[in-house]
Amino acid sequence: MKSSIVCKFGGSSVSCAEQITKVKDIVSQNKERQYVVVSAPGKDSSHAEKLTDHLINIATDGKHFRLQHKDISAQKSYNEVVGKFKKLIADLSIEGKDVIEKLGKDLKKPVPEEKKTDFLASRGERYNAEIISRYFNKQGILAELVLPEDMGLLVSEDFSNANVIPVSYRNIREKLTSVEGVSVIPGFYGITAKGDVAVFSRGGSDFTGGEIAFAIEAALYENWTDTDGIYQVDPRHIAEAKVIPRLTYKEIRLLSSKGFDVFHYDAMVNCKKRNIPIHIRNTNNLASEGTIIVSERVPEEVVVGIARKDNIAYLYVERDGAGETIGFVHDLLSVIKDYGIETCHYPTDRDDVAILLNQDDMVGTAEDIKEIIEKDFKPDTLEFNYNITILSPVGIGMKNHPGVIAEAATALKEQNINIEIINQGPAQISFHFGFQNFYADSALQALYERLIK
Ligand code: ASP
Repeated sequence: MKSSIVCKFGGSSVSCAEQITKVKDIVSQNKERQYVVVSAPGKDSSHAEKLTDHLINIATDGKHFRLQHKDISAQKSYNEVVGKFKKLIADLSIEGKDVIEKLGKDLKKPVPEEKKTDFLASRGERYNAEIISRYFNKQGILAELVLPEDMGLLVSEDFSNANVIPVSYRNIREKLTSVEGVSVIPGFYGITAKGDVAVFSRGGSDFTGGEIAFAIEAALYENWTDTDGIYQVDPRHIAEAKVIPRLTYKEIRLLSSKGFDVFHYDAMVNCKKRNIPIHIRNTNNLASEGTIIVSERVPEEVVVGIARKDNIAYLYVERDGAGETIGFVHDLLSVIKDYGIETCHYPTDRDDVAILLNQDDMVGTAEDIKEIIEKDFKPDTLEFNYNITILSPVGIGMKNHPGVIAEAATALKEQNINIEIINQGPAQISFHFGFQNFYADSALQALYERLIK
């Protein structure tokens, strides 16, 4: 299977007939593209919501959109889902009456409450794959619909956050080697040992693609999306930023930050184990070479990109003698852990520590956390500081390259920008500067000019 390619097409690449036509062209351009994993239709010019969200809205009787303050009833979502698939079938000129009948039955099927959201959420991928496979055949590409249940893609019973059970890899390999032509596979879900549908976390079709690539030992995993690749800096902040042609798995992990996540992290894990390169490409711009993610590369540059994280807060705790108190930081972190809050950096001095976390996760809990720390730790200083931005230059070329931090700090000094927090781990492939948010744009510009441009 070494020469074969797994291609995964995201929601925007399969959102309407015009997009699916592009997918067909891409698949037929290279005969190694034998395994096609598809998402449910995403947003398009006439649909403001993803089909998966409508399906979850049906399962939760309208609660899903209500929680987002959107006035979309379950009935409206039902009409949207059925209407979307009917339109796809009509626009692609394929036979699909039976598909709509099966979909209708699934949408009305009685499923126990705790399994209902997963079952319905998976139907977008399930029926989009069937439609795409029929369209391929109609266009002369020999294709077979291969469902997770057909290939033994077995998952744990963690509904809405399922994991693949390792026996699946052998099952998948056996099934897919027997398919003649292109296998069209719905992403995002698997089947539990009891035969129920369970979905991965949101965006999980990337994960299906990565797991299939791993199982069949693919030569390449292509991830087709609607952006040209991973940019040096988020282009919404710096328009002239360019796509990075080659990155290591470690670098992409450091570069992807909230709001700029092109790729689901879990999807990389197994590809990394088998050194399967992941190629991020744009379905709408074949001229762009995309970003290829590999295990190793020879760095030509010191810094490849700069990640930006906004909305960071930090908890600052200071107590005389904390530096000699065994377990002080550990105990502090367990308070945060009890609230299920993710933390990201922990810069310390001798008797104090700052714990950096996502500001949005703090809503409604900051006062409680303060009260507990006040009571159990008797700190001399205790405060939450908000509206911090972390900028993190990244690049494997930075290791053992003296002076990068000096350059960065000088660029900021020249702009009169104060750095509030500094952190660098021993891996030396990235460092982190924290600023008050009002400095963020000019700090990013200054670092970009000095370290990348
Ligand atoms: N359709 C699912 C979602 O919207 C999975 C995916 O598109 O990857 O999260």
